[in-house]
Amino acid sequence: MARCSSCNAPLPDGSPRCDYCGSRNDIDLKGIHFYTTHENDSPRICPRCDVKLKTIDLKLNGTFLIDRCDQCLGLFFDPGELEALLEATVSNVFLIDKTGLDGINLHRQPEQYAISYIKCPVCSQLMNRVNFGVRSGVIVDRCKAHGVWLDGGELRHLFEWMKLGGKLLDQEHQEQIKKEEQKKEIERREKLSAYRSGSPSFDEFGDPLRRSDPDLFDIVYAAIRFFTR
Ligand SMILES: [Zn+2]
Ligand SMILES: [Zn+2]
Ligand SMILES: [Zn+2]
Repeated sequence: MARCSSCNAPLPDGSPRCDYCGSRNDIDLKGIHFYTTHENDSPRICPRCDVKLKTIDLKLNGTFLIDRCDQCLGLFFDPGELEALLEATVSNVFLIDKTGLDGINLHRQPEQYAISYIKCPVCSQLMNRVNFGVRSGVIVDRCKAHGVWLDGGELRHLFEWMKLGGKLLDQEHQEQIKKEEQKKEIERREKLSAYRSGSPSFDEFGDPLRRSDPDLFDIVYAAIRFFTR
């Protein structure tokens, strides 16, 4: 758990804002990545504060540029960059710590920002809200063409999630969904081929009139008896 640099109180999960003293902590990259400012005034605009973002260089395998807002500490990644950064920062995770994963979202602040759609820093179109991974508790804002926005504190939270095997759990989850879809598809095809070949074991498409014949007969018989009494 990250702590506030001003008062040392524990910070809420996935947020850089201290509940006790109100200060905003720069926790996403501190102690994890050393970075330098590459460009002070990027043409990209912070979707939260409406100010110009700064381009910083994380110097990961050479030059690795991302955009950052000095005010809210949000980060913007070009497509694929966030995944590359997570992979490079958290490697060698082979176990899924389910208890740990259950715990990473216990101490969240109600809402850092009210739920809303925010604009892409590049094209100003509203971005989609996407769950980053199962049990991550992080909803990212994504522009398909330009990349992903993370609010302050969310990158750090994703690092923790990765360390506890969150990504492995997410992969398991995706494979499970895929398997279920394949199973459904096989069942659908089996039904279809049984129907086409007119298999007698397949009675779902049997003639409904024929099966209701005895009932119909009973009714007609009862009616005849009624009128001929
Ligand atoms: Zn504090
Ligand atoms: Zn901002
Ligand atoms: Zn865009």
